[in-house]
Amino acid sequence: MKLNDTQLRQVDAQIKRLIQTDSYYGKIYREKGIEGIGSQEDFEKLPFSSKDDLRNAYPLGIQAVPDEEVVRIHSSSGTTGKPVIIPYTAKDVDDWAIMFARCYETAGITNKDRIQITPGYGLWTAGIGFQAGCEKLGAMCIPMGPGNTDKQLQMMVDLQTTVITATSSYALLLSEEINQRGIKNEICLKKGVFGSERWSEKMRNTIKENLGIELYDIYGLTEIYGPGIGINCEHETGMHYWDDYIYIEIIDPKTGRSVPDGEEGEIVITTLVKEGAPLLRFRTHDISRIIPGECPCGRKYPRLDIIKGRSDDMFKVHGVNMFPSQVEDLLQLVDGASSEYNVTIAHDDSKNKDIMIVTVEVEGRVDFEEAAAKIRNLFKSRIGVTPKITPVPVGTLPRSEKKTKRVTDYRFENQ
Ligand code: ZN
Repeated sequence: MKLNDTQLRQVDAQIKRLIQTDSYYGKIYREKGIEGIGSQEDFEKLPFSSKDDLRNAYPLGIQAVPDEEVVRIHSSSGTTGKPVIIPYTAKDVDDWAIMFARCYETAGITNKDRIQITPGYGLWTAGIGFQAGCEKLGAMCIPMGPGNTDKQLQMMVDLQTTVITATSSYALLLSEEINQRGIKNEICLKKGVFGSERWSEKMRNTIKENLGIELYDIYGLTEIYGPGIGINCEHETGMHYWDDYIYIEIIDPKTGRSVPDGEEGEIVITTLVKEGAPLLRFRTHDISRIIPGECPCGRKYPRLDIIKGRSDDMFKVHGVNMFPSQVEDLLQLVDGASSEYNVTIAHDDSKNKDIMIVTVEVEGRVDFEEAAAKIRNLFKSRIGVTPKITPVPVGTLPRSEKKTKRVTDYRFENQ
């Protein structure tokens, strides 16, 4: 999807303004002799920005307005190293609330609803974003923050909450509690709005069944305002995103080149009107695709497919991109298969082809050969590759306290 004329002008204005400032990106653009853009080609030559830049600019190096215009900061913690700080102007805060209110509206939520907010408040963008959007919409906000399940459920019953906002894992916990306590007929929940972290179909169905509500996935990241830059509509055909505030391109994470609409790749986001910390071509490392064509709902906002995984986790066999998350989803469908597995990929030189071996723990009560056949068929039908499946008894594969390394790829280790 190419920049339209308005977006092109907005990006050009952002660059010209950044150059005038002493900010991190202003310096980079000056050094590279970038003065503005006049076409899509110019835009695609702009350097990418990344979380590493934001760490280098810590704490406030990316600030692109005078101090007196900054009204708030948010921070995202990385898995390693320094956190990242994002300064917001009053307009940035307001723009974010407008986008968030639009998300609620797209989910069919109105100012008559009562929205219980369970994501955390503080340095990160979760709780406060959900609240600002709710107030902008004019709905009643119940600002709970996380934890204290007894109190959450009491408020939910006493105040007749109609919308729950949460992380998917906390929503699952709440739904199980409601089920166990047998209070389902005392609650009034109609909809749930959840962060678009990857979550399994199984989890989704459990929440839906326990609560009998519609689920909406909201997208966003702290570096680009926060949650609220996109959400799915009632047709569940991907997430509409707000192209009057952000421009999204999908790139091949290896080459950095844009890919056509419909093709999968890394989401790269450009803010169009952000003041405090504008970001151009920010690499999210989230993998998805732009869904071509118009949504049956008639909204003109373009759509992103659900987030399939992180580019860092992606692996490719026989030309097919795969993620550990897909393997996890598939194993959940097989009776007796545990969630423990590993994938080994190597190149068979004699046949000049890649081979993929999936080792899966299987419970002793089921037939190993049948389980293996089922897993192989699921790989074939859902992903489009047919690996060799090796079932092993539960407890065989190594456990690690850290994040377990699931994929070992020998094709690149010998090069
Ligand atoms: Zn739609």
